[in-house]
Amino acid sequence: MVNELFTPEQLKELQDISKLKGEEQNKKFNEFLKKCTPEQVEALKHQYGGNECPFCLIKDGKLKSSILYRDEKVMVVFDINPASKGHVLIIPLDHEGSIIRSKNYREIMEVVQKVAQAAMDILKVDSINILVGDGANAGQKVAHGYVHVIPRSENDKINLNWEKMDISEKESEKLIKDFSEKLKAVKKIEIKPVKIVKKIKGVKFGERIP
Ligand SMILES: [Zn+2]
Repeated sequence: MVNELFTPEQLKELQDISKLKGEEQNKKFNEFLKKCTPEQVEALKHQYGGNECPFCLIKDGKLKSSILYRDEKVMVVFDINPASKGHVLIIPLDHEGSIIRSKNYREIMEVVQKVAQAAMDILKVDSINILVGDGANAGQKVAHGYVHVIPRSENDKINLNWEKMDISEKESEKLIKDFSEKLKAVKKIEIKPVKIVKKIKGVKFGERIP
């Protein structure tokens, strides 16, 4: 077991490394390896070293899986623990920990949309959940980001309800301030005033009403 071979500090460091992005992660991981005993290196190799990431193994054809779709950036497979019929995972080909921070976010989400539409057509459902669990606290189980597309139907057993959290007025105000300030950096789209031209049956365009 990896856990028994490492000090709590080392485990913490490994956890931090797992949160990093592709290249940065490799760099830090290699630095970490240099400080390890041969025994530790062996254990890590077994767990991470041979590219044990299940999604990378699928991508490289080393783990059997029916790839439903694949392009230069993304692949689509069925979830092996489906919540419903047609529950699929959209997985970027690059081994990146985070979907939210992925450089290929747009390409990933474009495929998500197409897959969701296809699932609706195939399964004749009008409801779908698109879920991204980014980070362990959000339910991410593999250190390689992925997006769930879950077709929904009436009375299915999927439970995505949560209890309302009480947030004080003071906290709310601070959140509004922090979010709006942070989001100022997002490109603004100028909205031009709309000239309302409504056609009314039986009235010629431009005719005065009444
Ligand atoms: Zn991977």
